Parts: sequence; C-alpha cells; structure tokens
Amino acid sequence: MSGSPGDSQIETGDPMGVLARYKVVVFDMDGVLWTMNDPIHHSREAVERCHTAGARVFYLTNNASISREDYVHKLARFGLITDTSAVITSAHTTAAILSQERPDARVVMIGGPGLRQELETVGLRMVPYAEGDSVDYAVVGWDTDLSYQKLAQVHGAIVRGGAEFIATNRDATYPDAGGRTLPGGGSIVAAVACSTGREPRTIGKPEPHTLRYILEVAGCAPHECLMVGDRLDTDIAVGRRVGADTALVLTGVTTAADVAAADPTERPDHVWEDLRDLR
Ligand SMILES: [Mg+2]
Repeated sequence: MSGSPGDSQIETGDPMGVLARYKVVVFDMDGVLWTMNDPIHHSREAVERCHTAGARVFYLTNNASISREDYVHKLARFGLITDTSAVITSAHTTAAILSQERPDARVVMIGGPGLRQELETVGLRMVPYAEGDSVDYAVVGWDTDLSYQKLAQVHGAIVRGGAEFIATNRDATYPDAGGRTLPGGGSIVAAVACSTGREPRTIGKPEPHTLRYILEVAGCAPHECLMVGDRLDTDIAVGRRVGADTALVLTGVTTAADVAAADPTERPDHVWEDLRDLR
C-alpha cells in the first residue's frame, strides 16, 4: 500500500496498471456502478477488465433491506452477470456472524424483508418480544415501515429481555433521486440507542466484518484485495481498517476537494474520476 500525499491527486490516463496486483476487487455499488437506476459510465467495462485480469469480483453494500437476489437482478440490468455468492450485504454478514455465534438464537428485529430473509435462512428464530421473555439479539436495520410498536419491541428486548443490540449499519441517510437524501438505517439505530442508552455492535462498513468476510470466503490476504468505493467514511475506511488497498471514484458523494481536506490517514491509495482508470 502506498500512502504519500501525492496519492490524493486525481490520476489520469493509464498510469498504474493496478489490476495485476489483486486477486480480489470489491465494488461498492451506489455511486460507483450506478446512481439510483442510472448506470455510471465505464463501470461495466471496468468489471469486465477485472474478470479478464483474473481477479475475483465481489459487490458489497451496507443496504440491508434488499435481498442478494434482488441485487443480482439489478446488476444484470446493467450488464453485470453474477450470482448471490458474489453479493455481500450487511444483512448477509449479520446473519452469518450471529448464526455462527448462536445457531438457534431468538431474534427481535426492525428491518426490511431482505434482512428477515437472511436471518431466517441461517436458522435464526424471529420472535416478537413479550414481557418476561429472554432474547439473544435485537437486530436493527433500515425499515420503511418503522412504527412505534417496533421500536417498543426492540427497546424491551434490549432493556428487559437481555438481547444484545446489533446494527446492520449506521448510514445516517439513504440516497434518493436528484441528489436528495432520506433517513437511513443509522437514524433508526440512533432512536434505539437513545431510548435504551446502549450502543450497538455494528456489522456494516466502516466496521471490518463485511470485508473480512469476503477475504475469508475468497481465501485472500488483505494486500491482495482492492476496495473500490465513493465514500471516505465507509468504503475507504473499511478497506484501510482491514489492510486492503483502496480506490475512490469521484462518481458518487465524495469530491476531490473532500479528499484534499481529509486527514492523510483517511485518504485512499488511488483517486479516480471514474472507473476508466481501473485497469
Ligand atoms: Mg456508495
């Protein structure tokens, strides 16, 4: 990994030929491959170059509300043909970790159908919280049908039922059309943290669990992996924490000025205008 100040400059042309260095390339999706339902130019060709170079490609998202099958279908719409084994969500990693810790755990949850499906698939038992019950985990993710009743269930499970508070991710906002934002999963996690006075164990980026899971599945060392994303505080941060190389594309939320203003310890190894430079 390189780390000189010059690395924060935007690279142009074909200066690095970085692909030969990596066994695994991990793509964040929103802001890297697409914006909402619009493909970002050059993304399909970049993924194809990864395959041609012999790198294994994974797709990684904090979004816990959509199933991996749905992501496979969305990727296919943009010409990226893959299967669920290459799609890693914070919901999938949460299910894998919790089922490994307690295979038949009782779980109270707030979250979308994608999260419920992942937790049930590995054999975890989704339960309502009733007074006097003991619960293993209270899992909180993005939920567009959030209600006071759901908050009260999770609150009770944590405060009185002995459940460990788990957050799929802490993204404050969710991207909407036209550059607007909506409240993200982190805003719901914050409500539960406020009422319970507890902080959760968080699974998604920038915590290391999702990317470590990919390295384990791929049987690859951190330095053999390139993490590509559009956010310093999640994508680049998780790559740095795990010891992978990192590349930031300026097609999403982060600007070149943001990179220049960032602490050197938070900057990526590469900064690219778009994925044309991944070769
Ligand atoms: Mg993104």
